[in-house]
Amino acid sequence: MKQYLVVAVIILGSIQAGYAQFEKIPGCTTPVGEIMATRKDTVRSRGMADNYHTWDPGTTLLVKFMPGGSKVLRDKVMLNAKEWEKYANVHFKFLPDDAGFTHIRIKLGQGKGHNSAVGTEAGFRSQMDATVNFDTLGFVDADYYADKLKKQGGQPPFSFFQLMSELRSDPNHWNYKELRRVVMHEIGHSLGLLHEQSYPDAVKWKKTDSIYNYYRQTQGWTKQQVDMNVFSAGSRFYTNGTRYDPTSIMHYSINGWETENGYQVKENYEISAGDKVLIAALYPRGKTSALKVVPKVNITEVGDLLVSYDENRNGLVIKPSFLLRTNSKLGEVYFVARLVDERGYFIKTNSQYFNWGGQSAVYQKIHLLPNSKLSYNKTSKDELELFLPADQLPGLGGKKVKIAFAVYLDDVANKEMDKLMYFSTTNPLSLPTGKF
Ligand SMILES: [Zn+2]
Repeated sequence: MKQYLVVAVIILGSIQAGYAQFEKIPGCTTPVGEIMATRKDTVRSRGMADNYHTWDPGTTLLVKFMPGGSKVLRDKVMLNAKEWEKYANVHFKFLPDDAGFTHIRIKLGQGKGHNSAVGTEAGFRSQMDATVNFDTLGFVDADYYADKLKKQGGQPPFSFFQLMSELRSDPNHWNYKELRRVVMHEIGHSLGLLHEQSYPDAVKWKKTDSIYNYYRQTQGWTKQQVDMNVFSAGSRFYTNGTRYDPTSIMHYSINGWETENGYQVKENYEISAGDKVLIAALYPRGKTSALKVVPKVNITEVGDLLVSYDENRNGLVIKPSFLLRTNSKLGEVYFVARLVDERGYFIKTNSQYFNWGGQSAVYQKIHLLPNSKLSYNKTSKDELELFLPADQLPGLGGKKVKIAFAVYLDDVANKEMDKLMYFSTTNPLSLPTGKF
């Protein structure tokens, strides 16, 4: 029985001090990341650097902006993103907005909070979607606008409406220190870094109602989202041999009242010495692989996922097409196709064989050699077919479903399982009536 793991987005948790003078600002309430096909996925905690989702050292990452964002802000984002190039053997190449393929797509918008896909997980997203969101409301100089409102005789807390009104009449007063902090933090995620407070045993959280309430009020997070974004502790495996670093740009600020022992961490505004050690281990200069090499599977050139109903065999034929590349370490790879209902939930099953962690699925374990390149359904010779018999899908005739295709990797040697290497879903399709 396989479990699955989905963490699409890691969220930046804190809000700038000036905002204390305003009532709840929607721009700071960060929605937790899209949980891909389902809202019911469990979330597995991860540690400080996700070794399975880092890019190859020496990679030039193609980056573009999605529509929106002034030149001033874009220039600042580019400048601060490139700060990581000083310490990591990786390069950001910013392309014009109309560029074709990009690895990273940055949206300067409002209302989506600050967040980023973790490393190569950006590849799970459509080229039409951003992989990094910056919320420009989180970059406004809140102190400046609060002072203006005070001079007009107002008393804090000011309302969101008042702030928006000031922004309209007197725009473009930004808090560049905050912008720099947020950009370096989120681009750290884009390179595969995770939250430093997840370092094993680093923070003894007081898991009380007041903490859940605090994050609900400041971030709009549910209990589950707080568990995921704040409390989840990483595995020792992901520390990459580094020590816990409370000065990391990847650390949330922590109030004393949030911990059992009064432990607190102030906002960090710069890439720390520890961050430099970690990023250099993941992207060493003059090397093509990280210091700690883990099995990886790279999926590219993904074509349309072809799904058809086969009358003779009475079932669904699923044909994904892609190129697959393995690295020097051997892992066990599974191709998994699952059914997702109209509401976005994986369909449950009691089937003995067509079952992936309790979900209706067909999967295939693939034996791969290290350093190999394979092609699936790109030519007539490399056919890959996943077949789901209709009798395994009772009651679904006439229903609309989506097929979610995923590639998972088990790193058996390191006992690190269920690494999601690829994920995509089809558009909804109707199953024929009377057959299922
Ligand atoms: Zn974060």
